[in-house]
Amino acid sequence: MSSRAFRKRVTAAIADRRVAAAVHHATWHKVGARAAGMRMLRNPERLRELAGQIKQHTLERLPEYLEQFTANVRRNGGQVHFAKDAAEARQLICELARSRGLKLAVKVKSMTTEEVGLNSALEAAGVRVFETDLGEFIVQLDRDRPSHIVTPIIHKDRRQIATAMARELGCQYTEDPAALTMIARKYLRDVFRRCDLGISGVNFGVAETGTICICTNEGNGRMSTTRPRVQVALMGIEKVIPRLSDLAVFLKLLARSSTGQPMGSYTSLISGPRRATDADGPSEFHLVLLDNGRSEILAGPFAEVLRCLRCGACLNACPVYRNIGGHAYHSVYPGPIGSLVTPLLDRRGDHHDLPRASSLCGACRVACPVNIDLPELLVRMRAAGRASQGRLKKLGFFGWLCAMRSERAYRAAQRILQAMLSDDGSGWTTGGVGPLASWTAGRDLLRPAPRSFRQLWQEELREQS
Ligand code: SF4
Repeated sequence: MSSRAFRKRVTAAIADRRVAAAVHHATWHKVGARAAGMRMLRNPERLRELAGQIKQHTLERLPEYLEQFTANVRRNGGQVHFAKDAAEARQLICELARSRGLKLAVKVKSMTTEEVGLNSALEAAGVRVFETDLGEFIVQLDRDRPSHIVTPIIHKDRRQIATAMARELGCQYTEDPAALTMIARKYLRDVFRRCDLGISGVNFGVAETGTICICTNEGNGRMSTTRPRVQVALMGIEKVIPRLSDLAVFLKLLARSSTGQPMGSYTSLISGPRRATDADGPSEFHLVLLDNGRSEILAGPFAEVLRCLRCGACLNACPVYRNIGGHAYHSVYPGPIGSLVTPLLDRRGDHHDLPRASSLCGACRVACPVNIDLPELLVRMRAAGRASQGRLKKLGFFGWLCAMRSERAYRAAQRILQAMLSDDGSGWTTGGVGPLASWTAGRDLLRPAPRSFRQLWQEELREQS
């Protein structure tokens, strides 16, 4: 994505008032709900600090904890696979489906499967895939893309959802949310009866017990992980945590940060396939551990981003996200965390502009349940990406350097700047010449004073003498 393509997307997103209104409304609601949810905790700041420390500690000993985690998953009867990148993850899961003759997959909402592009790979391999989270189901029906990591249809209104469902499912048109939910429920019940492969992401992997934890707000998570005969969980390696007791800390924060709920409606702990004494569950449980650039991130200066729980709070808090929505980022991960993670995961360097999509107001840092210093990391990434800046900008900085080093050049620069900026009499610049035109179009700038401090000082001295 070139700078021009990025700007074009942002301009289009800002111009789409319907999307902006939908995103504004939903995110403000979530920000309020989060604040209320956090107020219910005795010491929310201490809890956020603790959560950040647990994550940081785990990242510093990641190989150790991964070893413990995978050994326990195997001991529980699960099968563990490693995927070094997205292609390997797709191949592994498609091969699992092919070798077992699996034809119908149900999926729990998972950003990691979006990251590796699993759906299209499975469809190409002859496996029909159904998203079962209501939001993701609508995204799939409408051949759209999620625009938020927790609320995939944050950009859609009722009318669009009703139109997509009537068109794709052949049901009667209704904009009643309860009726639409019942239509989707009925449709998906039949899919659940016929499915043979269940695919999920993982919110947390507990090293101590080899348990995976999946948090959802709909019953689809449990249906997708108990009904099919084979379950595959795709997990980023950074999702491991040391102990079951640590889970309590994260569960108090995850849903609260995301939607304001004290806890998600369904918290499922899965420790392997169905045992002889179990009433239900899959006969095979496969855990696919995905690296896809995470080891490299861990070894670099931006390792802190791997603490992320994917709660979406930083998206809701971000004034940039609230104005442009998720699609403008052209990435699976939008918002402040996406502006960091996407350039790090993207080896082609197509997203180097994303760290600039931030006002650096700090709202994301305050919202983050694991205390990631997002603004600081964004600034660092901007600095690290200076090499990719345009020639014009480099020339500008060179000119500034020269002006600051020489008094004559500084005075000349002041005069040039005066001439380049126009004024409507209010004291504020109303436009500029050349590159200053686009800069001043989006920013308020006081017009430089007609007489400089040096001039005033000289006049003062002359009057005194
Ligand atoms: S960076 Fe923090 S606030 Fe943003 S999604 Fe991750 S955990 Fe949530």
